[in-house]
Amino acid sequence: MHKIRWLLAIGWLLLILSLFYDPVSAILTHPNNSSSPFSLASEVLTYQECVQVQQKCLIEQPYPIGARIWWTIIVPYSIPIIFVLGHEFWRRICPLSFISQLPLALGWQRKRKVVNPRTGKIYDKVVVIGENSWLGKNYLYVQFSFLFLGLVARILFINSHRTCLGIFLVLTIVAAIIVGYLYSGKSWCNYFCPMAPVQTVLTGPRGLLGSKAHEEPKSKITQSVCRTVDSRGREKNTCTGCKSFCIDIDAERTYWEELKQPGRRLVHYGYLGIVLGFYFYHFIYAGNWYYYYSGAWSHEENQLETIFAPGFYLFNQSIPIPKFIAVCLTFGFFINICYLLGVGLEKSYIAYRKRQNNPVSRERAQHIIFTIFSVTSFWSFFFFGIHPSLNLLPIGNVRLFDAFVILSGSIWLYRTLNRTRKQYNRERLAGTLRRQLEKLHLNFSEFLQGRSLQELNSDEIYILAKVLPGATHHERKRVYVSIVREILLEDKANLNKNMKILKTLRQELGLHEEEHYEIMYSLLNT
Ligand code: SF4
Repeated sequence: MHKIRWLLAIGWLLLILSLFYDPVSAILTHPNNSSSPFSLASEVLTYQECVQVQQKCLIEQPYPIGARIWWTIIVPYSIPIIFVLGHEFWRRICPLSFISQLPLALGWQRKRKVVNPRTGKIYDKVVVIGENSWLGKNYLYVQFSFLFLGLVARILFINSHRTCLGIFLVLTIVAAIIVGYLYSGKSWCNYFCPMAPVQTVLTGPRGLLGSKAHEEPKSKITQSVCRTVDSRGREKNTCTGCKSFCIDIDAERTYWEELKQPGRRLVHYGYLGIVLGFYFYHFIYAGNWYYYYSGAWSHEENQLETIFAPGFYLFNQSIPIPKFIAVCLTFGFFINICYLLGVGLEKSYIAYRKRQNNPVSRERAQHIIFTIFSVTSFWSFFFFGIHPSLNLLPIGNVRLFDAFVILSGSIWLYRTLNRTRKQYNRERLAGTLRRQLEKLHLNFSEFLQGRSLQELNSDEIYILAKVLPGATHHERKRVYVSIVREILLEDKANLNKNMKILKTLRQELGLHEEEHYEIMYSLLNT
């Protein structure tokens, strides 16, 4: 993975370099180059005589291809990668995430002197962004604002102006390195990166092929946890706890725990608004869809000159609102509409279920509407975002890709809609329960018709624990003590939430509440 990450980072840096100096690739876009899919002749032929903006033909010259590759291939194809393979795959290949950790790799990270309260010794400690700091509480707003500003900048400056795009990407890299120097772990990814809200929305509880971190053995380095390789070539966990409920450790846990976080609804519903606002703006600005689907916006010669030009073209008329205001108005409109729609749908769903005498919690309603918005964002992004490059392929391939996207979205939707926090917690504890049952050394196979404990699903594990064949009350208590100890060791910060899960478990194991308090008392005092 390390080599792959280097390779991707170098490829990305070369692409950035080509934005400043590229004397070669314009040959691929020359109208006489019939063998190149990027030829200007094929672009116009596919659509109409010329690409029009506000009824004027764009003057198109052969152009270096860096910006087009970046905007119409690399950026859009990251979306199906995140959706299908999960954020964990993306985080492990993202060149910016990799580069943000260079200060750590080079040993240049900022450290603070800390006194060990027990020994009185002073030692160096890396700095983490506190959960209760302003940034710790408001990072969703920060990331969403960066995403908004990035897309506004894209339409105004960097869609086609190669030098501006190059400077923008270099500044982003510098910002990621500075954050990597100031704070430990993947603080850039967790608190600043504008792609993080995209990952949150598209992954939901789990990407289509994402792993289930909560069911992995405790010793396993899950998902995209920070890691290094020791001298014997083995992976070692290097987590510094830069974020509570980190998406790199267990994405589904992060999903359930952050549902009530301030700004979570804005990110989820507003993201669909950003997607729709971005693509519709190209239509409202140019007065036709050809402008967007041809990809001509990625090599417009005069992008900077249009910033103060009329920003809307409606009903065959230019509207004299400068483009830089028009872009913000469009985004603002779509973000607000989607946000109000999402919140309204949640309320309507709760009211509907109440009328049916089958009430649902606010969390359940939020999850259902979130899931619908996630898949709608994915499909919307696909049908707009990827098509400028996809349309260069033969029509059969385009349809095949369309079918793949509809199918993968539908499977994810079906699987995610029914998912609940309770189910997740049950599965999480079932893993611990399974390990403790194994330690009893009872002969389970005679009760399980040849199956092993590993083959049982979480519900079966619970039932087994309930009837625990051949186990005495003392042994059940031993299982319970071990589970409580594991929770105290690993997740003390969330004791209250875990207490609810433990209550169900001890009821199933036939233990009394007094026994629970007795166990807690002795564990907390040792
Ligand atoms: S794995 Fe640990 S260090 Fe890495 S991002 Fe998550 S919390 Fe931070």
